Amino acid sequence: MEEKNYQLDLLKAQNAQLSKSERIYRLVCESSDYGFIYQSLGGEELLTFGSFESMFGLSLHRTRELDILLEKFLEEDRRAILETINPEDYGREFATCECRLSSGHIWYRIVTRIEKNDEGVFADKDKVVTFMNITREKAQHSDLLYMAYYDTTTGIYNRNYFVSLLTEFIARADRDKCRVSLLMIDIDDFKKINDVQGIIIGDELLQQVGFYLKGKMVKDRIICSHINNDIFCVAIYDATGPFSVENFYNDLKKRFSESFHMSTGQEISITASVGVAEYPDAGGSALDIINCADIVVYNCKKLGKNILQYFEAPILDDFLKNVDIENKLKEAAFNNNFMMYFQPQYVARTRRLRGVESLIRWKDDTGKMIPPSVFIPIAEKNGLIDSIGHFVVEESLRQYKKWSDFYEMHFKLSINISSLQYKKDDFVDSIMELIEKNSVDPSDVELEITESILIDDFDSVTAKLTRLRNFGVSISLDDFGTGYSSLSYLKKFPIDTLKVDKSFIDTVLDDASTRIITESILNMSHAMGFETIAEGVENERQFSYLASVGCDVIQGFYLGKPLPSEKIDELLSYMKK
Ligand code: C2E
Ligand code: CA
Ligand code: CA
Repeated sequence: MEEKNYQLDLLKAQNAQLSKSERIYRLVCESSDYGFIYQSLGGEELLTFGSFESMFGLSLHRTRELDILLEKFLEEDRRAILETINPEDYGREFATCECRLSSGHIWYRIVTRIEKNDEGVFADKDKVVTFMNITREKAQHSDLLYMAYYDTTTGIYNRNYFVSLLTEFIARADRDKCRVSLLMIDIDDFKKINDVQGIIIGDELLQQVGFYLKGKMVKDRIICSHINNDIFCVAIYDATGPFSVENFYNDLKKRFSESFHMSTGQEISITASVGVAEYPDAGGSALDIINCADIVVYNCKKLGKNILQYFEAPILDDFLKNVDIENKLKEAAFNNNFMMYFQPQYVARTRRLRGVESLIRWKDDTGKMIPPSVFIPIAEKNGLIDSIGHFVVEESLRQYKKWSDFYEMHFKLSINISSLQYKKDDFVDSIMELIEKNSVDPSDVELEITESILIDDFDSVTAKLTRLRNFGVSISLDDFGTGYSSLSYLKKFPIDTLKVDKSFIDTVLDDASTRIITESILNMSHAMGFETIAEGVENERQFSYLASVGCDVIQGFYLGKPLPSEKIDELLSYMKK
């Protein structure tokens, strides 16, 4: 009797336990995001639970009702669904697939699991089919996929994907014994467009260029990509016949010269510098070829932009020389291996000293003089111009202060300013600070700037020039006549002096038209109140001619070469006598 009671209690306890775990399972299933179908294999009955009903707006009770469910999915996916929810038909105990509802936008993953019995057959076993909505996961995946291959600004291939496609081109070209041509397209003066029109317009322009290039793609033959900023790359497989580099370039040039219409109404036409490097001549890998094309583009910019150039060995030599100079330049900047020379300037009428122009000199560690025309552009490119420019101003002022104190003289100290130096926000403050620190009279200081400074935003350029002028410093425009500015354009800027470029002086005696231009520049400059300096005057004939047509100041080898400070000392003490 006791034994029976005990067994009854045990059974009750087990039942209570069972319904408790059933309750827990039900709770978990109902609150999950998944929908489930349960089927006892061999039976007709189905049970749907979890989120199944809210997913599909129905619940199923019999296997034949599965057709209603199937109809909710895209037709092309239905076969895979059937195979997935009935894996036993294929002798499997597990199956999964991804499929879309008939709208095409909502994605499900279906997973089916069956428990086998001990003999390894499905009969009498449980089957559970789980439905998961994976639409968000899919969207994220396709975003990531998009980002992996495409550039988000322009919608054409990005750099990484382009490199892998180019690598495939190269492998194929190796087999077919043909070439792959790479065109690196760098939009000229894009920075100016960005600065003047704003980056939104800049981006829109890039998008339109991207759109144009997308239209030029030809399957297995031409691929286009946006590498970064204003640089695009195009690879042409076996660039012959209609796919030649010349054809591509001519089309591009034509398209670029017609304007691009911006959504804000502006019309922008552009030019580009195009560097071409080819496999196998320029290198054996995608990156080698891209690097070579990059070097060629750099060369195109030096040659004046808006051109196409092919990679050739001398370009690489030049480039390597520059890299070498760049490395040495970094060391020199670090060790302060620079010195200032000074070239005298004389008043044409009286031949009295008007001032000195300070010119930087660099003797590299092998004792070779490297001219500033070579290293200043490199320093501007790699950012060293900041520290070099600071040295130039500081050293020139220090030296000038010594002279003006010792010889009790005032003359002009002209200091060359690079446009990058000028563009720094703190440029004016740092100049004023250095002048004060060295106790130099600001009216003895003249800054030589070039037209490239004036092309920038008019208001900020004039604001800086005006502050310098109010402080007492005067402004001289260097290399006048080599840029695009007309005199009437210059009139808008607070400038004191124009330096007529040496190229005019070189030919002024032999060439009548140069003479006419030079004389009219001098006349108009005077009418506008500018002082004029002729630079690069090398002989007496040039000197007397320039003096006779009213040039105010003469600078050049004829009257004095750039000299180290000791030589200027000699000159000043001679004048003092
Ligand atoms: P620049 O400012 O036009 O300087 C005049 C250049 O012409 C100097 O060359 C000078 O030595 C040279 N020169 C002067 N008279 C004659 C002449 O009668 N005949 C010939 N053939 N040449 C003459 P340099 O010193 O080699 O400087 C070249 C350029 O490098 C300068 O042109 C200037 O743009 C830049 N530069 C020189 N020093 C500095 C500097 O301290 N800072 C910056 N930012 N640039 C500098
Ligand atoms: Ca100068
Ligand atoms: Ca000059």
